[in-house]
Amino acid sequence: MQYQICRTCIMDTTDPGIRFDVSGKCDYCANFEENLRPHWQEDIAHPSRVQALADAIKAERKGHDFDCIIGVSGGLDSSYTAYVAREVMGLRPLLFHVDAGWNTDQAVGNIEKLVNGLGLDLYTEVVDWEEMKDLQVAFLRAQIPDQDLPQDAAFFSALYQFARKNRIKHVLTGSNYSTECCREPEEWGGYPGIDKTLILDIHRSFGQRPLSTFPLVDIMIYKVLYQRVLGMQVVKPLNLVPYVKKEAEQTLERRFGWQSFQHKHHESRFTRFYEDYWMPRKFGFHKRRAHFSSLVMTGQLGRDEALDRISRPEMDEHYLEREFEYVANKLDLTVDELRVIFDGPNRTYKDYRNKRALIGLGAQVMQKLGMERRLFR
Ligand SMILES: [Zn+2]
Repeated sequence: MQYQICRTCIMDTTDPGIRFDVSGKCDYCANFEENLRPHWQEDIAHPSRVQALADAIKAERKGHDFDCIIGVSGGLDSSYTAYVAREVMGLRPLLFHVDAGWNTDQAVGNIEKLVNGLGLDLYTEVVDWEEMKDLQVAFLRAQIPDQDLPQDAAFFSALYQFARKNRIKHVLTGSNYSTECCREPEEWGGYPGIDKTLILDIHRSFGQRPLSTFPLVDIMIYKVLYQRVLGMQVVKPLNLVPYVKKEAEQTLERRFGWQSFQHKHHESRFTRFYEDYWMPRKFGFHKRRAHFSSLVMTGQLGRDEALDRISRPEMDEHYLEREFEYVANKLDLTVDELRVIFDGPNRTYKDYRNKRALIGLGAQVMQKLGMERRLFR
């Protein structure tokens, strides 16, 4: 296939499913303009909507110490969600953090500053490191691009389990259109949701020890049982208020001494390494291409600047090699062992048992109902 890049964003044919119109504009941009932006702008233009949501959340949890829960990583999106919940919506959220072993010091510092600055309580759940490590090494040996599934699964499963156990109905997340309207295609390691079948099949094939405490809630359980039957609601406040990345960073810095990261997802040392080294060099996919395209579509970054940023890694070569050693050591692998895995043949989730077809069906229903507006092929 001939190489092509969108004339308005920087998505390109490294996404095998991308389509272009006659003018050279991609289907992500078309979807943003036709399907996503109008609804999004409409919500932001009506501040009464976010207030009505806040009132409903408060009314539902009257008499409790907190009225909702927010999963925080120390990164921008979740940190700003906590700020909006407290200061704009007047809620009393419980901040919930999952420590999967890869926090950067900056992420930990940011969470502390938020907790103190907003006067909120924090609950931290620590994932058993031996199990976390075992699952991550199994994933690496499975050779699929989706290397962040173990962390994502732990973060969201622990959050949903805690909310369910404590009968907290409203789960606020930092998911948003402003910085994430261009959703990375699943070929780039964007597997859609926590698929227990896939995770356990990979662990069965390459794992060494049982996952006895690892938090794992399957997508069908949280989408159907938790959300449809038990009435848990996942709320995305950042889509209801003006949310501009640079301004949000400045607000958090000014108010709490919060420190901004060089790039999205840099709060986790593993994710930073995975997105800046493992994915581009082993698979040829740049997740940053989708991150930057989101900012270009929403007018927060010039296309030329995005092209310049994507032309080189976020971290320099020496630093990346040091991170390679750090990740190997942390996972109890020698640098050579990790190198052998890195050089091994690439696979995809299709080489393992999975319920991708079922998830796709669910996603189509969500899109028909207007509950998911981002492009989901
Ligand atoms: Zn485009």
